[in-house]
Formats: sequence, C-alpha cells, structure tokens
Amino acid sequence: MNSIFSPVHTTQTRPFSERLIPRLKKAQSVVVLTGAGVSAESGISTFRDPDGLWADFKPEDLATPEAFRRNPKRVWEWYAWRREKIKTVRPNPGHFALAELEMFFPKFTLITQNVDGLHLLAGSKNVLELHGNIHRNKCFTCQNIYPEEVESKEIPPRCNCGGWLRPDLVWFGEMLPAGVLEKSYDLARDCEIFFSVGTSALVHPAASLPICAKERSAFLVEINPNQTEISHLADQVILGKSGEILPQLVSSLVPS
Ligand code: NAD
Ligand code: ZN
Repeated sequence: MNSIFSPVHTTQTRPFSERLIPRLKKAQSVVVLTGAGVSAESGISTFRDPDGLWADFKPEDLATPEAFRRNPKRVWEWYAWRREKIKTVRPNPGHFALAELEMFFPKFTLITQNVDGLHLLAGSKNVLELHGNIHRNKCFTCQNIYPEEVESKEIPPRCNCGGWLRPDLVWFGEMLPAGVLEKSYDLARDCEIFFSVGTSALVHPAASLPICAKERSAFLVEINPNQTEISHLADQVILGKSGEILPQLVSSLVPS
C-alpha cells in the first residue's frame, strides 16, 4: 500500500517511513529525477503552478521552433529576460542535499528536466540534463554549440553559417538530446531506488522514467508538496518542499 505523509512544517519531524531509510542505507544504485519544483525555493518559477511561467505566457508563443521561426527576436528576448533572472538566484538546500546524497551510493545519477544549471552549481557531478541548459546557445540551422554570452549587434546573434542562435534547450515538439534519453531509461530500469522530486510528471518522455523504474521493481519515492499523476504508483509519497525534505533525508543517512 502507498503511504502518504502529511506536509512537514518543522525540521524536527522526519517524514520518512521505516521502509525507506533502511532500504536506502543498503542501496547500491539510486536515480533521482528532478523538475522545476526543486528550483522553486531558489526563486525560479515553475511552469504549471498557478503563479508559474505559463500563467503569463503561452508555450506555443515562446517555446517552440515555430514560435522562433515566426519571431526570433521576441523568443530571444524572453529567454534573455529568463537568463537575467536565473543569474541572480542561488542553489537552495534541496540542490545542496542532492549533491551530498550522491556521495552515499556507488551508483547515483541525477536526471534533471531543469535548464537552470543549479544542480551543477550546487556540486552535483553525475547529472544528465534532459532538456538542455539555458546557459548555452546553439545554431538553429547547423546545431553548433555556443556559450551564453555572444558578442553581436544583431538579435538574435548569428552563427558562422548564417543561422540564428537560440538557447540550447528542448522546446515543445523537439527531440531530446541524442543518447541522453536512452541512458536515462537504462538507469531507470536498472536502479533500486528512484526518486521523483519537484516534477508534475506531465511532460513526457521524462514523466515515463519513474513509471519505467517502477515496472522494473525499483522502490519509487515521490517528493512534492502536491500529489501528481504518478503519486498512485509510488511506494512512498512525501508531501513537502524539496528544500526541506531532502536535507532531512541526507541527515537520516548519516550515522548518529
Ligand atoms: P512543472 O512546472 O510542470 O511542475 C512543477 C512541480 O513542482 C509541481 O508538481 C509542483 O507541485 C512542484 N513543486 C512546487 N514547489 C515545490 C517545492 N518547493 N519542492 C518540490 N516540489 C515543488 O515542472 P516540470 O515537471 O519540471 O516540467 C516542466 C518543464 O519545465 C520541464 O521541461 C523543465 O525543463 C521546464 N522548466 C524548468 C525550469 C528550471 O530550469 N528551473 C523552470 C520552469 C520550467
Ligand atoms: Zn550554424
């Protein structure tokens, strides 16, 4: 039976069942999938919460190849605004706890849907970025990769081939970076414990990773203040903010 814990309001109470911690202490292979919720406590809006980014903007106006073709300047400038916002934020205790968690297991991979680079900044090493990274650009025509800062009088800047530069992100309707998804599926199929943290589990194919892990008998744990599409599948649903729950999880692994 799934167990759903009440939201945690203090750091005194540890919200983990006796089933999770002993299992985690013995685990050899752990995979964590993160979504926009992990960066919410750093001040970056999620996409689908009521105050999220898509509350003010329509995805099809900004985050599709068609939108970029239609109005490259508008899309570039929206991302320039997001980049400026992201530059002002720092990783939160949830990001740092995940970087620490990595050190407890022989095999640990953090698969993220986030494009903000905060996991790397917090010190996570084995990170797969499913949806790219906002701190890089690539050519819309030849796919050449460029750094975030590109000197140019034109907006958007142009590649040497003449194509426009765009952020190196996966937009709606685009394929995920070659190899990254296959590797993520392999890891999901192979792990003992799979954490789904701060994701609405609505965006596929990322959302199919926890399902795939569960089908292959991984112990599935969800950390989110709200229930999601996959809550009914999880062995443990921990209702709470990742910035509060994850540091407690790490403390539970440290011998007292
Ligand atoms: P989403 O917006 O669909 O869902 C966010 C989830 O986070 C929700 O389930 C919400 O309940 C949960 N949440 C909110 N606050 C939380 C907290 N403090 N702790 C834990 N969970 C919390 O986001 P998604 O599932 O990642 O999918 C949307 C897509 O949005 C992804 O493709 C991602 O690339 C992109 N995105 C990325 C960023 C970023 O890089 N920071 C920001 C917005 C969107
Ligand atoms: Zn090019």
